[in-house]
Amino acid sequence: MVPELVPVRPGPTATAWLTVRIRDLQADDPLHPVTVVVPGHHAGLHLRRGLAAGGYANVRFTVLARLAESLGAGRLAARGRSPLTAVTRAALVRTAIAAVPGPLAAAAVHAGLVDLVAGLATELRRRADRAGDLDRVRAGGTLTARSALEAVAGYEHRREAACLYDEVDLLTAAAGALRAGEGSVALAETGDVIVLLPTRIDPPEAELLRALAARTSVVVALPHLEDGGGLDLGAALLGAAGAAPVPVGAPPAAVTALVAPDPVEEVRGAVRELLAAAEAEPPVPLHRAARDTLDEAGVPHVALDGRRLEDSVAARGLLGLIRLRDQDFTRAAVLGWLSGLPHRGGVLRSQARWDQLSRDAGVVRGATQWRERLAALAERRERSLQRLEQDPEDAAVEAHRAALQRDIEDARRIVEHVTAIDSASRPPREATWEAHVVWAARLRDEFLTPDDAWSVEDREASQAVGEALHALGEASAMEPAVSVRVFLRALEDALRGRRRPEGRIGRGVVIGPHRLLWGFDLARVHVLGALEAGFPPAAAVDPLLAGDPLGRGAARERQERADWLAALAAADGGEAVVSAPVVDVEGRAVYPSPWMLDTLADGDLRPRASAVRAGSASHPRLRRLGGAAETPLSIAERREVEAATAWAAGRDLFRTALGRRDDLPLGRVLESARARRSDVLTEFDGHLAEVAHLPLIARGLSGPAQSATGIETWATCPFHHLMGRVLAVSPTEDVDDDRWWQIDAAERGTLVHDILEKFFHHVAETGHPAPGSPYLDADVRRIEEIAAGAFRDAEARGIAGHPLVWANERAAILADLRTLLHEDAEQRGDGGWRPAHLEQGFGFDAEPHSWPAVTVPLGDGRVAVLRGRIDRVDVDERGRARIIDYKTGRNAKVEIGAANLLEHGRRLQLPIYGRAVRDRARGAGLPATATTSLYWYATVKGQFAQTALVVDDAVEEALTDVLGRIDAGVRAGCFPQVPGEFEEWWGRCENCGFCDYDTLCPAS
Ligand code: SF4
Repeated sequence: MVPELVPVRPGPTATAWLTVRIRDLQADDPLHPVTVVVPGHHAGLHLRRGLAAGGYANVRFTVLARLAESLGAGRLAARGRSPLTAVTRAALVRTAIAAVPGPLAAAAVHAGLVDLVAGLATELRRRADRAGDLDRVRAGGTLTARSALEAVAGYEHRREAACLYDEVDLLTAAAGALRAGEGSVALAETGDVIVLLPTRIDPPEAELLRALAARTSVVVALPHLEDGGGLDLGAALLGAAGAAPVPVGAPPAAVTALVAPDPVEEVRGAVRELLAAAEAEPPVPLHRAARDTLDEAGVPHVALDGRRLEDSVAARGLLGLIRLRDQDFTRAAVLGWLSGLPHRGGVLRSQARWDQLSRDAGVVRGATQWRERLAALAERRERSLQRLEQDPEDAAVEAHRAALQRDIEDARRIVEHVTAIDSASRPPREATWEAHVVWAARLRDEFLTPDDAWSVEDREASQAVGEALHALGEASAMEPAVSVRVFLRALEDALRGRRRPEGRIGRGVVIGPHRLLWGFDLARVHVLGALEAGFPPAAAVDPLLAGDPLGRGAARERQERADWLAALAAADGGEAVVSAPVVDVEGRAVYPSPWMLDTLADGDLRPRASAVRAGSASHPRLRRLGGAAETPLSIAERREVEAATAWAAGRDLFRTALGRRDDLPLGRVLESARARRSDVLTEFDGHLAEVAHLPLIARGLSGPAQSATGIETWATCPFHHLMGRVLAVSPTEDVDDDRWWQIDAAERGTLVHDILEKFFHHVAETGHPAPGSPYLDADVRRIEEIAAGAFRDAEARGIAGHPLVWANERAAILADLRTLLHEDAEQRGDGGWRPAHLEQGFGFDAEPHSWPAVTVPLGDGRVAVLRGRIDRVDVDERGRARIIDYKTGRNAKVEIGAANLLEHGRRLQLPIYGRAVRDRARGAGLPATATTSLYWYATVKGQFAQTALVVDDAVEEALTDVLGRIDAGVRAGCFPQVPGEFEEWWGRCENCGFCDYDTLCPAS
């Protein structure tokens, strides 16, 4: 007996034929076994559900490989052979390629090359004329092709030696078993066989079907398509004559061609049409509720090609973890790894916390940096916390304290975690597959244990990742040694090669490549992305076999054509839509495919691609998608369309549904834009009078002790003060900014201050040099040694920047220090000044050497409590004092005095420091003499200039006046944005250049 051949059109015709055929086979016995060999598992599920509606029993759906397994695997096992797996195949191919001298050997570990050689080996085994094929390839003659053939031969030899069987062995063994009269039990369970719509029949498969037909009835339903589909099905191999085609049971699908403005709108258009179809035809199982959102979660769907295991949390997490070491623990790599891990609370998987803390710590790369810089950050936070202990209890202080405590704990936990990852991710000492599997499994167990935050799918996937990982151990029999790189590639391949089902066949929309629609019959098919280079596919360059000696290109095009026609036939009796965008995802012009144009052809005439794309072609079945306005996809989209239409018509957006909704931002955005354009000071401009009763604002300057610079911010830009001093908004630094290239200006300033403090402490303690005496070489060496220590500390903290730039910075700082000593010697000589107090605090009650806080009356019995740290106080022989505040930035060149109300409240440091010194004298019962308070711009950039203020009674009165005004402004809720004058040279407003809040400030 030979198989019976029946040409059948795919789609509903094939389903109807199958139903009848099964009924006929079971006419006498409803439990008579029937096996349907389907083109794919999904098609089997789809058909089973369809048949279930009419009732059936003892019908099995399977693919040919599984049928061969049930018939032939026992025979192979009895001969001591075991199945080849993807892992063992790759290992054998790698060793085979490496063993062939020539151009391929050096790339033996490259996964792409391994796939190509493995594919060629399988292809050659499945073809009819292997000897002829080998001759043709050799005759083609490139060195690469000959090397590839040698690698294939080496691989086959190794596979045989390892007693591993592949799918062709299985087909052959199954045929052999049947011919030998074996497999009666399996055959009894198989019953009659129907092979439905095979897309190819190669010699080993034909051999099995012929052997099967000798033992049971076999019917092969060959795809029958318009132009034959071009498929070379090898029907002749079956030794059977073809019958007349089965009459077509449903009219071919009405094909509509759609042109969309872009790929996104094309997909949205397809979904809109599906929803419209669902409304018109209630049986289409789409949830109506999904109309509002239509996101992936809302629309039930099944993905035919499933979800790659590689995309699961467990797989991404494990691969990312292994790659971290190779990527030198760069901040971006670590944060990228974390971003793929779900978490609910806790710091260890919180990318946001790692991002924030590593930014603050100055981490750039390297596990050591992560450890040391985060530990240093925790210590800095500890010190800040200790300083806060001195502050009175207050809600803001309490919140600050809690935030610091949290930073300390989180930073230390991250340090522990990075240390553990660093240690565990060191490659195993033994370079074997087993050792690498154990190593990776440990990483997974220690750092990627699924928890409640993981979805059920991801937890299941974690198990599958474990299985894929352990399967890699199989390669040890073929490859005794392996590197981390090869192991990682093998793991990537193993995870990429596995797919997990997504959705359930029969529920909602089927999504997948059109080539998987063989065996389906659907109410509607929408082929997306029908572009010129895709249908037919563009000719591909064969990297192994130049000149295409095996005719792969033509076979590929025939297969694609058949897949296309079968996909459209799946919608017979219903509707098929073929669509193409006019631009690709990057906005480049693209054209509709010839096959799409064929659907609009009238005889030999078909519209031109350029005319269809441009919209100048007309055809009753050609439509253009306009966009959301045509058929809004959801309520949200409907509102957007309404708003866009109103806008285009010049109507007031406020009156649209989108503008009126309180829970949507548009109304508020419109309101704020109008308010800002008006000449009235509104809440959007920083006028917070309505909330001025809230404690944070109502206390004005009478709250906890404040610094001069904090108060100055209100006088400079009240909105800045609101952000930083009232709401305590913490600015976020960009790690890619100059900070990582050169030392931050603030850090540089602190470093110089620290050096000067240490140096002048020694001067104050020793009295050397006396006023009027120059600094000696030994003094210069001492300040250089102090500076060297500070530089080392900066480098250890990771704030120094690029080594080359840092070398320049160091030289500039040393030059500035030497100049400062020279200038200082002259000035001290002029006035007879001796350094007496350095980094002198006032208002820090818990510090033993702190002076009392400066208090300034604000009226109504309220006072402003002020504290600060004075860089240096010098005294002369008569007990007079002068105050120095070093500045390492730009010289603002401003006049400060009582007459201009201390530069309108923008320069309060000097008068407040002066008050602190004069208060101390008063406290000691001494006369409060006029005290000089000065800014010293101690750099070349600042030209070592000084701005001085003589603090006397008039200045103190001005200070009281200014603080009273600022207090009144704060309490009134007055926080407008004040950018200041536009500075042509800098290209920005004077107050905004270094403002931390420029990204959120509406005035910036
Ligand atoms: S960006 Fe300018 S206007 Fe805005 S808060 Fe900062 S300084 Fe003020």
